[in-house]
Amino acid sequence: MTSLHELLAADRAAQMQTYGRTPVAFVAGRGVELTDSDGTVYLDALSGIAVTGLGHCHPEVAEAIARQAKTLDHVSNLYLTEPQIALAGRLRDLSGFDARVFFANSGAEANECALKLARRASVHRHGRARTKVVALEHGFHGRTFATLAATGQPAKHAPFEPLPEWFVHVPPTDPDALAAAIDDETAAVLLEVVQGEGGVLPVSDELLATARRRCDEVGALLVIDEVQTGLGRLGAWFGFQTTPVVPDVFTLAKALGNGLPIGACVARADIAAAFGPGDHATTFGGGPVVCAAALTTLEVIEREELVRNAAERGDELAAMLRALDDPRITEVRGRGLLVGLVLAEPIANALVDATRARGVIVGSAGPEVLRLAPPLIVSSADLAAIVDAVAGALKDVR
Ligand SMILES: *Cc1c(COP(=O)(O)O)cnc(C)c1O
Repeated sequence: MTSLHELLAADRAAQMQTYGRTPVAFVAGRGVELTDSDGTVYLDALSGIAVTGLGHCHPEVAEAIARQAKTLDHVSNLYLTEPQIALAGRLRDLSGFDARVFFANSGAEANECALKLARRASVHRHGRARTKVVALEHGFHGRTFATLAATGQPAKHAPFEPLPEWFVHVPPTDPDALAAAIDDETAAVLLEVVQGEGGVLPVSDELLATARRRCDEVGALLVIDEVQTGLGRLGAWFGFQTTPVVPDVFTLAKALGNGLPIGACVARADIAAAFGPGDHATTFGGGPVVCAAALTTLEVIEREELVRNAAERGDELAAMLRALDDPRITEVRGRGLLVGLVLAEPIANALVDATRARGVIVGSAGPEVLRLAPPLIVSSADLAAIVDAVAGALKDVR
């Protein structure tokens, strides 16, 4: 087998260097466990980045992928396929409202669809195109030009300016500023209910209710980005179900295919009607193989009651982290199995490395927040081992 050193050199020689790589190569995964090229076994408390909710290489998902790949692989969106239509029906039913679905291949593309739909819906509803979209500072919505512009992180904007100028950002803690920013030019408000990349920061019910009220007053769409928070992660099927608001549109991706690339934009039927044939399309979106994987993923989440497990284990994880005795910990926040350990010093990345050295994979969300997003199947015993490693890492990083 290629050594880690050779792999790093080959990576530099063949790939664009857009990722800050950790010098670890994984070769296998099973459930909560990952194995690296030295044979070291880790507990995965990050799940990709909130992707593999059922754990790695779930046998039923692997079987569904193999079966579909051997039966029908791809026919374009010029034709009907059963897995795509069945998955759309499942997502509509889970949403709790009369929804219509568009399948994309990623979170950014799901959000891109929502933004294009908001533009068309404004024409439909108001007879003219509204371009303004209000989003939150620190929010993250993707890396395409439009979703990068929607992302409320100026450092990510800087290398790519000029960006589309339709976006206005307000602080995630200021409902009054949000209310004032939403006006007759506004097509949509785009936000996460817990800001994932932005530091595992839950947005207040008051801010969400303000967004809902002002959107209704001016005839704008409330779009909730559920790419990270959806599909059980927060202890509900969708994050908005842990809040007092229901969106007009929400987007999904990360966990939908348990690792296969699939995104979805889910909109109320009357809003989705603003799109007609030819308005939006993607070659691979909703292909039979990824939809078979997603259908099985939803089936397992439901049958094994993993939404409830996420809620219960999430409370346990937060309580265990709160019991850690370290003056550098200022807060434990998040919801369900998306938990942030907030630090008074910029040591999150050092802690990620030290936790990995103790056999547990965690992530960061900015320099001062350690992010934990274990799979929805995680057990109490796994959580004890995960928190033990974090506690050890806090001692190692001085
Ligand atoms: C990861 C993420 C995205 C982008 O998803 P990609 O699949 O990487 O394009 C968008 N929004 C949120 C909230 C995310 O966490």
